[in-house]
Amino acid sequence: MLEKYFIARKKLYPQNVKGKFRQLKSRLNMLFLSIYCFSPFIKFERGSSAPNQAILIDITNSKIYFFFIEIWAQEVFYLAGILILCAVALFFVTSLFGRVWCGYACFQTVWTDIFIAVERFFQGDRNERILLDRKNNFKKFYKKTLTHLSWIVISLVTGLVFVNYFNDSQALLKKIVNLNFKEMSLKIIGWISGIGFMTYLMAGFAREHVCTYMCPYARFQSVMFDDNTLIISYDKKRGEERGKWHRGESFENRGHCIDCKQCVVVCPTGIDIRNGLQMECIACGLCIDACDEVMEKVGLPKGLIRYDTLSHLLEPIPQKKFRFLQARTFYYSAILILVSSLMLTSLIYKPQIETSIFQERNPLYITLSDGSIRNVYNLKIINKNHEIKQFSLAISKPNFAEIKISNHDEKNLTVPAETAVDLKIFVTIPAQKISEISEDRILIEMILQDLATQKIEKISTIFIGK
Ligand code: SF4
Ligand code: SF4
Repeated sequence: MLEKYFIARKKLYPQNVKGKFRQLKSRLNMLFLSIYCFSPFIKFERGSSAPNQAILIDITNSKIYFFFIEIWAQEVFYLAGILILCAVALFFVTSLFGRVWCGYACFQTVWTDIFIAVERFFQGDRNERILLDRKNNFKKFYKKTLTHLSWIVISLVTGLVFVNYFNDSQALLKKIVNLNFKEMSLKIIGWISGIGFMTYLMAGFAREHVCTYMCPYARFQSVMFDDNTLIISYDKKRGEERGKWHRGESFENRGHCIDCKQCVVVCPTGIDIRNGLQMECIACGLCIDACDEVMEKVGLPKGLIRYDTLSHLLEPIPQKKFRFLQARTFYYSAILILVSSLMLTSLIYKPQIETSIFQERNPLYITLSDGSIRNVYNLKIINKNHEIKQFSLAISKPNFAEIKISNHDEKNLTVPAETAVDLKIFVTIPAQKISEISEDRILIEMILQDLATQKIEKISTIFIGK
C-alpha cells in the first residue's frame, strides 16, 4: 500500500575503501569522538562557589559554563550570537569547499561511519553482507546479534557521555563506573535511553536518509555554491565514452572510465557521482579513493573523480587551480573576525554586578499619616562573582529622599556568590518637599556601592508624588 506513495528503500552495503580521504575521515572521526567523550571531564577552576567543570550546561541554575566564559539566563543573546557565528562559519566553509562539514564532521556522518565499521567487523565487507542477508541461518543470527549488541553499547555510551554535559560529570562518572544506577535520577536515565535510542535509530537504520530527506542543510547548501566552489566532480571530458575495459586494451579513442562502478559501491549514500553533483552527495571523497585505486591499476593518471571547481572543469584546457583567496574569503573572514572579537570583548568585560528595578504599580504611591509620600520598588541585585559581595545602598538624588530596605540594613547588604537577591525598597519624600516640587514625577538616583572595592553602580528610577 505505502509503496504507492513512497519509493521502497534500497538497502545499501557500502564497500570498504583505502585511500587518503578514507584515512583523513577515520582520523577526523577519532578526533571528534575524543573531543565529544572527554570534553565534559576537563576541569577548570572557578573557586569554591562555582563548578570546576570546563564545559557545563547547568539547567537547574540556568547557566552555561565554557572555560572562562559564563552565560547566565539573562544573557541568552550571547547564544544567539554564537549560533550566528557558527552559521556564518558554515556558510564560509561551504562556499569554498562544498559540503565538507557533512562529509567529515557532522554527527550523523561520524556515527554512521562507526556503525558501518562495526557492521563490517562482524559481518564482513559488502559482498559478504549481501550474501549474509540472502539466507536465514544461525550464522546470520549470531553475526547480526553481535552487530546490534555493539551498536546498542555504542549508543548507550553516546547517551552516557551526553548527560555529562548537563550534570556534575565527576559524580555521575563515579555512579556509572560503580553501576550505581539506583542513585541516578529518572530524568538522567530517560535522557541516556532517549539519546541512545536516537543514535541506534539514526546511525544504525536511518543513515543516508537523514542526509537526503531530514537534513535542511542538504536542501539549501546549493545556493552557497558557485563555479569556484570545490565540489566532488567526475571529469566527463576525460571519462566519457565510458565502457568495459580488458587488460592490455588501449585507451585511445575512448574515455578513461571503465564502468567498474567502484565509485558507486563505496558511496555511503548510494549515488553515482558520474551523473553529476547531486543533493545526496556529502562530499566525503570515498569515491575519489575508489576511482584512484582503479586508475592506478589500469595505469592511468589519478583524479578522474576529484575535488574540483566547475569553472576549472569547464575550461577547454584546464589551467586555473582552486584559489583559496577569493573576494568572499575576505568578506566572510572580516565578518567572522569582527563579530567574534565584539562578542569576546563583551564577554570578557561584561559587568559582574547587575541590577534591575521595578516600581510597584498597585498602589502607585502611599500617603503616610504625616503627609509624606512613599513609593515601593522591587530591586534585583545579581552577583555574578564567585565570592560573596557586600554593598551599601543610598539615595544620591534628590538628597532629601529617604530609603529603607525591608528586612535588610541598607548600609550592609550581603549578596552571596553567583546569586540574585530580590529586595523590597521604600523611598519616602517628606510632605513639605512634596509641596515645594511642581512636577508629579521625580527622578530618583540610587548608589549601590561595593564595600570592598568601593565601585559604584547607579540605579535610576521615577518617584510618583501626586
Ligand atoms: S570508479 Fe572510476 S572508472 Fe570505475 S566506474 Fe567509477 S569513475 Fe568509472
Ligand atoms: S558521491 Fe562520492 S563524495 Fe559523494 S557521498 Fe558518494 S562517495 Fe561521498
